[in-house]
Amino acid sequence: MTDVSIDTKTFRASLLKWYDKNRRPLPWRASGGKAPDPYHVWLSEIMAQQTTIPAVLPYFMKFVGKWPTVHDLAAASADEVMQNWAGLGYYARARNLHKCAKYVSDELGGRFPDNQEDLKALPGVGDYTANAIASIAFNKPANVVDANVERVMARIFGVTESMPDSKPQLKALAGEISKDEKKRPGDYAQSVMELGALVCTPASPKCPTCPVSDFCAAKSKGIAASLPARKAKSAKPQKHGYIYWITGPDNRILFERRGEKGMLAGTIGLPTSPWVEKTEDKTHLPSITRGKASKVLVRHGFTHFDLELHGFAVILGNTDVPAGGDYFWADAAEAAKLGVPTVFKKALKQFI
Ligand code: SF4
Repeated sequence: MTDVSIDTKTFRASLLKWYDKNRRPLPWRASGGKAPDPYHVWLSEIMAQQTTIPAVLPYFMKFVGKWPTVHDLAAASADEVMQNWAGLGYYARARNLHKCAKYVSDELGGRFPDNQEDLKALPGVGDYTANAIASIAFNKPANVVDANVERVMARIFGVTESMPDSKPQLKALAGEISKDEKKRPGDYAQSVMELGALVCTPASPKCPTCPVSDFCAAKSKGIAASLPARKAKSAKPQKHGYIYWITGPDNRILFERRGEKGMLAGTIGLPTSPWVEKTEDKTHLPSITRGKASKVLVRHGFTHFDLELHGFAVILGNTDVPAGGDYFWADAAEAAKLGVPTVFKKALKQFI
């Protein structure tokens, strides 16, 4: 545990003062004394899981433009939601987003719960997201700790223990500072995250312009950029498989709606064989008995593994589709509108 202690009241006041002048006008943030829209806060928090704000912004604008209320989103089809989510990654979020919208619309009359416990009961809402929504949308006291907050805490308190082992300590330190903020807990939570996003950035913290530099142990020791400490990363596993360009006599292309479990569950893409770790274990789908290898080679990095798919071209009769999946035909114009994850966009570009 750290032996650094700070004046938490002055720390919060300094940060809030800076936040009032410097916060970004993000579309889910309320301004002019208005309360934030819980639907917007929830949507932005789900989209921002494992994703940067610049990547979230166009998707957020698209979703609220298409579906201005949670009732509108609930009334959309699951396919439409998945297609509009395509490219944002982590597709389980999109499935849960739609389930959650339906639940809030049908069971709660369109009103999001205002407390952590009931928020956590919603599909796709875990500890962090429940705290963030309660705090930001309803100004409830909550310890909201994301990667930005962890980094700020590691530096302010000079915590040199490596991540992820230091996570509980960083969370406890964040809670020590936030627990007595009774007036503006929502703004305080956002101010720490905003400091991490704009000033206390990962590689090159802007300490000379930092509103809380007087409190910062890492700055005074000259070790800010090295915190939070991280253990050396082990190499990501490499997976292999085939990706198929299957056309029928009318030149339509065969697509697969992937199953409800596993990577990219519920998304639409070109058919693939199973993804395996050893090249020698690579096998075609059982129903692919003829066809030829193409020059297409698709490489894609997921968070936990890298994938390499070799292209294989097959011509089939219209009804002669691989067994055991959810397959359908689309022509080139229809295919362009499907909304497929990035790995399939790469493949389509190469095949076409
Ligand atoms: S002084 Fe530097 S390291 Fe410390 S919180 Fe501010 S930006 Fe981060």
